[in-house]
Amino acid sequence: MSRVLVVEDEAHLAQGLRFNLEAEGYAAEVVGNGEAATDRLLEKKESFDAVVLDIMLPGKDGFSVVSELRAARNYVPVLMLTAMGRPEDVLKGFAAGADDYLAKPFDLSILLARLQGLLRRSQWTRGGQAPGPGEARTDAGAIGDFGTFSFCGKTIDFGALELRSGESTIHLTLMESELLRHLVRNDGRIVSRKQILEEVWGLHEDTDTRAIDNFVVRLRRYIEDDPANPRHLLTVRGVGYRFLANPERE
Ligand code: CA
Repeated sequence: MSRVLVVEDEAHLAQGLRFNLEAEGYAAEVVGNGEAATDRLLEKKESFDAVVLDIMLPGKDGFSVVSELRAARNYVPVLMLTAMGRPEDVLKGFAAGADDYLAKPFDLSILLARLQGLLRRSQWTRGGQAPGPGEARTDAGAIGDFGTFSFCGKTIDFGALELRSGESTIHLTLMESELLRHLVRNDGRIVSRKQILEEVWGLHEDTDTRAIDNFVVRLRRYIEDDPANPRHLLTVRGVGYRFLANPERE
């Protein structure tokens, strides 16, 4: 049975969530603030399969909770609940390390579907069903949903959410991995910021696209030998980005 921690300060919403999660066969527990969430996940090291995390909480907010978890290398899947009409919250949440989001007010069946998606994803990752390094492919068109991609001595493992380079392994958040996957799939092609917002993050609103630039800065630190002079992840001024697996070939 999957254990879900609900972090929500509106008591009626929290109890409704718990009731419905239990009806769906989950073991659900509720805490009403961010301090209690980090206490149980980090101090007491309780094991949960997923966290439903509200952003607006008394005291420590949802952004702080998720960034504390990630800083402590806790990668429990986090579904963030954002206020309607605030795409900047979504981007801030992804930057902090959240895996998915849902705008309030939400439909319960959508929440359950998103949660199931996160759990399925993390079970695949843990079950090691992603292809191993030996199966790494270099053809961008051939990346399966949970495949790997190798370029210039680095391997991105989209299933395990890892970037391996020589001896070092970097853990990617789900959104970092999704952004990389999108860029790699479009190897050589220009990808606009708008396209990234819509196709990677599912945002259609007019959003401040600088949040994407912050992600790209981070990805460059992971994949570039000299992040200040990128060779693989290039900025196309005024448009967006372009990923090149083999810069020499251009
Ligand atoms: Ca709240």
